[in-house]
Amino acid sequence: MERVIIEVPPESFLVSVATCPNGHSLLDPSVKLGGHAAIAILARQGAIEETIFLNPWYGNHEVQGGAGFVVGSVVSLHCPHCKVSLTANGDQCVHCDAPMANLKLPNGGVAQACTRVGCYYHRLRIQDSGERLARFLFGE
Ligand SMILES: [Zn+2]
Ligand SMILES: [Zn+2]
Repeated sequence: MERVIIEVPPESFLVSVATCPNGHSLLDPSVKLGGHAAIAILARQGAIEETIFLNPWYGNHEVQGGAGFVVGSVVSLHCPHCKVSLTANGDQCVHCDAPMANLKLPNGGVAQACTRVGCYYHRLRIQDSGERLARFLFGE
């Protein structure tokens, strides 16, 4: 598949729908970050298990919780509802080689985040038939 790289300015895109592979919403309206429902993810490292909350504005690195994890170590990320792993099969961070975690977005999109504490690498993947993308890029 061809890859098209699109640069998105930080915080120009609000993640308002994100799910685990089993379809559970990862947004928690009871916790607000950046004025909107935060993304809630269960983080695990050995015996430590803690729910962390991410700012839903794409590109914002604000994280609430997770103080028990050592910066530079890798955590495993899970759905807080069914505890399924969010780790992306085989995808690694281009900066630090840690596994990436997948958040499913609507219409085949995926937001990926590095699972190393303190590494803020993330990327968006959008699968598209090509038609909508062509319209978007070339104004057809
Ligand atoms: Zn789930
Ligand atoms: Zn990384």
